[in-house]
Amino acid sequence: MKWRNKTKKNAGLRGMVIRIHGTSCYVCDEECLTDKKYQHHSQYLTLDHVVPRVQGGSDHLENLRPAHARCNRYLNRVMQAKGASQ
Ligand SMILES: [Zn+2]
Repeated sequence: MKWRNKTKKNAGLRGMVIRIHGTSCYVCDEECLTDKKYQHHSQYLTLDHVVPRVQGGSDHLENLRPAHARCNRYLNRVMQAKGASQ
């Protein structure tokens, strides 16, 4: 099953980001929730792109940081606003 491989790969990348950067949000420096049961929570740990994908950022480990779902969304909005004003 294809989706299985994808899930596994994402879990691996996520695990590596956590191992390198810990579970503190890189935006607000507070602890993130890592348990999958919180995956719809605003403080769930998501992988955020340091350089946004739309600006050519990669999906590689060096471009990813742990961030709350809410902070990730907030940053995306800021980035979009910046992009729109340029
Ligand atoms: Zn945060």
